[in-house]
Amino acid sequence: MIFEKNLLKEQVALVTGGGTGIGEVICRELAGHGAHIAIASRDPKSHSGIVSEIESLGCQTVSIATDVRQPDEVQAMVGQVIEKWGHIDILVNNAAGNFLCSAEELSPNGWKSVVDIVLNGTFLVSQAVLPTMKDQGTGNIINIGATYALSAAPMVSHSGAAKAGVLNMTRTLAAEWAPYGVRVNMITPGPVEETEGVRRLLGEPQVRQSMLKRIPLGRLARKEEIAWAVLYLVSPAATFITGNNLVVDGGMWFASDGFANL
Ligand code: NAP
Repeated sequence: MIFEKNLLKEQVALVTGGGTGIGEVICRELAGHGAHIAIASRDPKSHSGIVSEIESLGCQTVSIATDVRQPDEVQAMVGQVIEKWGHIDILVNNAAGNFLCSAEELSPNGWKSVVDIVLNGTFLVSQAVLPTMKDQGTGNIINIGATYALSAAPMVSHSGAAKAGVLNMTRTLAAEWAPYGVRVNMITPGPVEETEGVRRLLGEPQVRQSMLKRIPLGRLARKEEIAWAVLYLVSPAATFITGNNLVVDGGMWFASDGFANL
């Protein structure tokens, strides 16, 4: 354990998309440091594994069926968390949808669906937790981005544009909500090992090899490494950090193609 075990004791964290992949590991790490966890996504069946793990750590948890694209469902989700614990200290906007398609072939619905989840969903959930955080005079919001939003994003124009929008929104909300004691930051992962998306994208050994060449540290991220960045930003070590984007990608973003050819 990198941080002190009771770092987040009695804090309440709401993690969207917390039943699978990176979100699940974020839930595990936050609960491992004492936080109670609300997990929200469309299909609560995907939460069952992490729910029992959290309970075995002695933390409380609630599993909520929510589509972050639906304002009424988002309000009901936040209401359920407040009803259970009376406060929300941490929000992790992790829910996302994505699929590979060239911009030329992308249907209006495909574009809208991804932008709705990533950009609109992040806004709706952030806005919905604000009144509680404002009343508390404290709160931490972490938005999960992706490195392809920092450059061109061939084959994922919908997600790239939406995540780039989230980065700008992170800075705006950080500025507007700082007077309320609410910090808003972003974590931008590069490709993460053992996630469904990466399995699909890097199935071919040569695609994987060419991706690895673009990462100065020479490997993909582990899910824990994204969760540790979340822990850092919500910890007392980061109380003066807001509106920031913490890139967790082994150096992929800053390394040029020239680096890969060395
Ligand atoms: P994942 O396993 O596919 O998780 C996405 C989660 O979002 C699922 O639990 C899904 O649950 C939930 N979700 C999707 N649509 C939703 C909606 N409309 N309302 C509520 N929840 C919804 O993805 P992941 O790979 O762990 O990625 C997690 C985050 O990291 C995402 O923001 C992703 O963009 C980012 N990221 C991932 C990688 C990577 O290498 N995997 C790299 C960079 C950034 P339901 O189906 O139950 O709704």
